[in-house]
Amino acid sequence: MTGPAGGDHAVEVAAAVLGDRARIEAPLGPLTTYRVGGPARLLVEADSQSDLVAVAAAVAASGLPTLVVGRGSNLLVSDDGFAGIAVVLGASYAEVTVAHDVVVAGGAASLPVVARRTAASGLTGFEWAVGVPGSVGGAVRMNAGGHGSDMAATLRSIHVVDLSAGEDGAVPATLAAADLELGYRCSAVAQGQVVVEAEIALACGDRDEAEREIAGIVRWRRENQPGGANAGSVFTNPPGDSAGRLVEEAGGRGRRSGTASVSDKHANFIQADPGGRAGDVFDLMVEVAGLVEVSCGVVLRPETRLVGFDWPGPR
Ligand SMILES: Cc1cc2nc3c(=O)[nH]c(=O)nc-3n(C[C@H](O)[C@H](O)[C@H](O)COP(=O)(O)OP(=O)(O)OC[C@H]3O[C@@H](n4cnc5c(N)ncnc54)[C@H](O)[C@@H]3O)c2cc1C
Repeated sequence: MTGPAGGDHAVEVAAAVLGDRARIEAPLGPLTTYRVGGPARLLVEADSQSDLVAVAAAVAASGLPTLVVGRGSNLLVSDDGFAGIAVVLGASYAEVTVAHDVVVAGGAASLPVVARRTAASGLTGFEWAVGVPGSVGGAVRMNAGGHGSDMAATLRSIHVVDLSAGEDGAVPATLAAADLELGYRCSAVAQGQVVVEAEIALACGDRDEAEREIAGIVRWRRENQPGGANAGSVFTNPPGDSAGRLVEEAGGRGRRSGTASVSDKHANFIQADPGGRAGDVFDLMVEVAGLVEVSCGVVLRPETRLVGFDWPGPR
């Protein structure tokens, strides 16, 4: 995929700045839970502040866009791939420390790991996250949530690096949660910003009770949600209703488009077949949203972040 944003010259310029840090034409599908989609022109695993500064320098020199990939559990990347620099945070950004009732977690830390660690430390307020297979950074950006809570409930502040601020500007800035406009599955964290750390304030609780709640959530997820290649809920719930219920009522359950199908277990989940096409997932999303609009007049909005697709409606 070439074009003004991802043109060969811009890629060469960025690749020259990044040197060994960048992989060229790196497949993104394996970095997502759908396991479909094409390559990034360049992929950088950033394991230090100097790696992020190098990406910012490459962006300034080339004008290429960036895509931060967390655990890829809410991402559908087109089969043409991403015509820019994809950035994944490395292991040094996955650390979690718990001191009293405050948790400091790197942007790459796994939400279920943070949920289990905090419960084991006798803290309460983060149990809900055990069933959300994302990273802390992705969860902040999405204001992930479930089981009556979300990131906004306990997030205190983040450290964020702006990849569009140039080599000199790409320093971690601290932002208070109150300034992040955390809403239902959305935030003010912008495309070029990387959440590298989050501070979460929990309450002291009972360890056994927190672990029981975690076990209950894991059981509920197993009973009610499908395994396999998906990205969780495809659409956000419209006010006062459930997208899954509306899809079911409109006859969407079990519907198939090529290599993608609406889950039989949960109608707001789409499953991708092994070796499938991102285009089939997208086409099915459009088809299902159309079915719901015709059946009850409700316009569904994608919760899944779409990369390289034009959604034909409000997002
Ligand atoms: C089985 C299953 C169940 C799920 N259940 C839930 C649920 O109950 N509740 C819920 O809210 N979600 C759920 N999800 C969706 C998903 O897990 C969450 O949205 C999660 O927060 C995404 O995190 P991620 O690291 O995978 O982000 P990605 O999918 O990699 O990216 C999502 C968005 O965040 C951005 N991003 C990722 N990392 C960073 C970072 N470090 N800094 C800045 N931006 C970043 C990406 O650019 C993209 O815009 C589910 C998904 C699956 C597969």
